[in-house]
Amino acid sequence: MSIQESEDRARVDAIVIGAGLSGLTAARRCVDAGLSVVVLEARSRVGGRVWSQPLEEGGWLDLGGQWIGPGQTRVATLAERLGLETFPTHTAGESRLDLAGHRARFAGDLPLAPADLAAIAETMAAFDAMAGNIPPEAAHDAPRAHAWDGQTVETWLRRQTRSEAARAYLRVTIASMIGASTSELSLLHMLFYARAAGGLAALIDIDGGAQQTRIVGGTQQLAAALADGLGDRLRLDTPARAIEVRGPGDVTVHAADGSRRAAGVVVAVPPALAGRLAYDPPLPPARDLLTQRYPMGAVIKVQAVYPTPFWREAGLNGLSLSDRGPVVGTFDNSPPDESCGVLMGFVEGHEALRATAWPADRRRTAVLDAFAGVVGDGAARPLRYVEADWTRERWSGGGPVGYAPPGTWTGYGAAVRAPVGPIHWAGTETATVWNGYMEGALQAGERAADELLAGASGG
Ligand SMILES: Cc1cc2nc3c(=O)[nH]c(=O)nc-3n(C[C@H](O)[C@H](O)[C@H](O)COP(=O)(O)OP(=O)(O)OC[C@H]3O[C@@H](n4cnc5c(N)ncnc54)[C@H](O)[C@@H]3O)c2cc1C
Repeated sequence: MSIQESEDRARVDAIVIGAGLSGLTAARRCVDAGLSVVVLEARSRVGGRVWSQPLEEGGWLDLGGQWIGPGQTRVATLAERLGLETFPTHTAGESRLDLAGHRARFAGDLPLAPADLAAIAETMAAFDAMAGNIPPEAAHDAPRAHAWDGQTVETWLRRQTRSEAARAYLRVTIASMIGASTSELSLLHMLFYARAAGGLAALIDIDGGAQQTRIVGGTQQLAAALADGLGDRLRLDTPARAIEVRGPGDVTVHAADGSRRAAGVVVAVPPALAGRLAYDPPLPPARDLLTQRYPMGAVIKVQAVYPTPFWREAGLNGLSLSDRGPVVGTFDNSPPDESCGVLMGFVEGHEALRATAWPADRRRTAVLDAFAGVVGDGAARPLRYVEADWTRERWSGGGPVGYAPPGTWTGYGAAVRAPVGPIHWAGTETATVWNGYMEGALQAGERAADELLAGASGG
């Protein structure tokens, strides 16, 4: 059989590259519309940036995305449809702050001087007022897009407020969302990101914000459920390598196990990884160059498991925020039945890059020292210590999300979602609501499938 014949035998209506939440959503939508579909997934599991592992001690660990919050209706509806239970992030008790030289144990408002608290409120209000002008479908068309895209969040912060504590607070909270420092991020991108989520507080907050709720058993169940029913349409351990467009509605995807022909393809991987595929003919310059300007953040998610959440007895909630490094923030990730205690922390951005280069025992010691600073010496002796180093995940290329440095949106923003012939772009980085989140992954998957379906029906 010739290569052409074998490609034709493997012909389908749609090929989806990537079985994360976005690709799986796109695939399910195409299947539901009656299309023949193949999903190519590089890893030996589905879920991509959602990845859950059961714990011998009881409970589970979410190694990637874990929270859902108000306004994330798709992901909440999916969890509900699957009968998954949810529970609130544990916040009862006192938190710790170690920021710009202020060290304190506290409940309620941040333990900063009134002038610093006012500076945070003013800075966030100014930020949200600007974000309100961003059209989420086209950040590059915002009235002051060029001015905002020509600076970093850091340069804006330095001009906006003299309060070093306010700057430090926004630096660490923003770094922990994106996995990049404020000096790497376009102001326009961050305004867009906040707009897509409904404001900066929605991104930062626990109660009423993106960190409000968790799913019992872990978020990977969402992906597993979407994958259920795809049957042998789903090919694990099958990285796509190249996309060849032969004409309108005629595309061949070359993968590790051979080539397949289709009418359309959904590329449901972050832009930086989409740029690692080979394209023939080459992508239009704007799209090719975009993939070279949309890096992934850097994050190591660290978790320690204890027999109990012992810090709760001491009146602590395990929450902390710090600019001391390497751990920027911690959360109590214990399961709701308290079958064990889990403390989780993020090492983000430049700190992640530094820490990933350390020997494993040095990293473990540094993290457990930081945990001990939050909940006491008991933190130094966990039953188990688990790291998810997304900087070393070949098929994510970093995490938690991709972001735009200055100049990217205004130069190349139109190429973020624009299809290239039969190639459609999904993945949370292409979302217009909750960009960067699981919710955005679902929205982007729906939109890319609808584009492909419209093409398939000649619409
Ligand atoms: C540490 C961390 C914490 C996070 N916390 C939260 C949170 O609390 N709440 C929240 O909503 N979001 C969170 N996120 C973000 C959230 O996980 C992502 O937005 C979402 O999972 C992205 O889904 P996706 O389908 O767009 O991309 P991905 O999940 O990255 O899926 C892409 C898929 O494509 C596959 N792939 C890559 N290259 C190829 C190739 N060449 N061929 C075939 N397959 C390929 C990958 O293996 C992967 O399965 C977090 C992420 C991380 C890493």
